[in-house]
Amino acid sequence: MAFIEHKENELVYMTSSVLPARHAFTTRLGGVSTGIFESLNLGSNRGDDPEAVRENYRRVCALMGADIDGCAVTKQVHGSAVRVVTAADRHVCLSTVPYEADGLVTKERGLPLFCFIADCTPVLLQDPVNGVIAAVHCGWRSSVADILGEAVAAMRSLGAEPEELCAALGPALGRCCFETDADVPEAIDAWLKGDTAGLWDRRADGKYLVDLRAANARRLLTLGLREKHIDVSPECTRCRHDKYWSHRYTHGQRGSQAAVIVI
Ligand SMILES: [Zn+2]
Repeated sequence: MAFIEHKENELVYMTSSVLPARHAFTTRLGGVSTGIFESLNLGSNRGDDPEAVRENYRRVCALMGADIDGCAVTKQVHGSAVRVVTAADRHVCLSTVPYEADGLVTKERGLPLFCFIADCTPVLLQDPVNGVIAAVHCGWRSSVADILGEAVAAMRSLGAEPEELCAALGPALGRCCFETDADVPEAIDAWLKGDTAGLWDRRADGKYLVDLRAANARRLLTLGLREKHIDVSPECTRCRHDKYWSHRYTHGQRGSQAAVIVI
């Protein structure tokens, strides 16, 4: 298992060898946005030029073999809601999303699922045997609200089986850069029922350095996924701010990258 970097036309994106489905973790490279959004911004409500965002979507959707108005997108509120989507949920690019959901699940063919990130952990899931996929935005609040538990339950409702599920946890804020107060490790401890050995370091100044991606990988194990079906990106979005959007590095003056998957 490994994350692999691709360059196609101008786009730079990552894939994981654990997922058979077509998918991508985008970077900030290969789009047409300018200024603080240079260059591949896929955030539709951050103040970027709509025509530039549309062109950025065109490039990523072309990779997925889809039209920019033929995808399903999250509307992220740092909650744990996961929505099962169908062709009826196809989103007209840049229009208002009529639901709130930090995760999407489908068994619809040809319907790419998009979630958006800039430090939070993106998780793409696929049951290749039963034909079910998911895209999940795992910020720390969504994580400890057990959005991955909700996502796997939604996938099971469509026929997926945990032992068949493959999961890729993409580029995100690493433990090197996720500095928190005690509230985050305390919430993770409650969520993972104390199974938290090695997930954070406490510094002498009382702050913590937390590995949220590893915490989410551990949750996937307790949900029944096999360890060999879980791939975790080693890249930190803040350390690699030259390649990825990082909310912390830019103090919020930024675009968004996407994780997208389609069957
Ligand atoms: Zn880092």
